[in-house]
Amino acid sequence: MPLEADDHNPMMPYQLPFPPDAQDEIVVNAAIPDDERIWVPQTETVSFRPLCLNRSQGYWMNLLRVRQSGVLSRHRHPLPVHGFVLKGRWHYLEHDWVATEGSYVFEPPGETHTLVVPEDVDEMITYFQVNGAMIYVDPYGKVMGYEDVFTKIDMCRKHYAEVGLGEDYADQFIR
Ligand code: FE
Repeated sequence: MPLEADDHNPMMPYQLPFPPDAQDEIVVNAAIPDDERIWVPQTETVSFRPLCLNRSQGYWMNLLRVRQSGVLSRHRHPLPVHGFVLKGRWHYLEHDWVATEGSYVFEPPGETHTLVVPEDVDEMITYFQVNGAMIYVDPYGKVMGYEDVFTKIDMCRKHYAEVGLGEDYADQFIR
């Protein structure tokens, strides 16, 4: 690794092609969109905005939005989750801490939790990286359903077709 002083052309861009098998980057300029159609509804109060639907590595990056003191149903994570709260406030029924605007949260594999947005918060938006799957369970761990990057891609395609953006609107987020 050369020191900065050894680089005679620090402002010269990299001159070689990227690896031929490398994927394209994703740039989402209005990550919190003005167009309501971009939010994919999940329930009456919960929706998500895809950013990267990574089918090759089995994870998804998205903004989760909850309105009107909604609840994200109890679920288990077999793989880690990273979250950054952009707006509002939420907590899990299973923990005594509160994630406030500006908070970063790491959720280790093995977590089972129920996300609740309190009544005095009109809108909560959190940036989440969810790896692998979310396994929806009853209070005693009985499996009720699941989500993974493929069910997310499906939901996006169906929703974008319905709202007139076209199902291939989802393609820009898929890697
Ligand atoms: Fe979760």
